[in-house]
Amino acid sequence: MQLTCNLEIQMAESILDSLRAGGKKLTKPRKAILAILEQSSLPITVAEIADQLKKARAAVDLVTVYRNVAMLQELKLVNPVGLHEGQMRYEFRHGREHHHHIQCRGCGQIVDLMLCPLKKLTELIEEQTKFVIEGHALEFFGWCPQCQ
Ligand SMILES: [Zn+2]
Ligand SMILES: [Zn+2]
Ligand SMILES: [Zn+2]
Repeated sequence: MQLTCNLEIQMAESILDSLRAGGKKLTKPRKAILAILEQSSLPITVAEIADQLKKARAAVDLVTVYRNVAMLQELKLVNPVGLHEGQMRYEFRHGREHHHHIQCRGCGQIVDLMLCPLKKLTELIEEQTKFVIEGHALEFFGWCPQCQ
């Protein structure tokens, strides 16, 4: 219990630091959006965030959610996850290891893949292109056991 509380305080402070560094304030809608992203175990869309805000009776319009998510992405507090659905998903970054995802084409369920096979390849690409690589995107699609 104590540990959970401490972790929450630490997290809030580091988020505040990131916002401060970006010259942003932790406004009420921003706080609500961050809380939803933080509590979501899987990447969610802007529409889903707006839905949850509505359910929590927080009146935040879609444009505000879009703007805030874009800002949080700029501050590297959230990662975009592209699953080729016609809309991006976003995942809270803090306290989560770098990882990838797989999505079922049938039911749409997403599973975290807590691994990254690209370390060697990254070194190879840097060597060949002289680029300094900042990140990469790698998502998988397929059919889950129920949808096969
Ligand atoms: Zn499925
Ligand atoms: Zn994930
Ligand atoms: Zn990776």
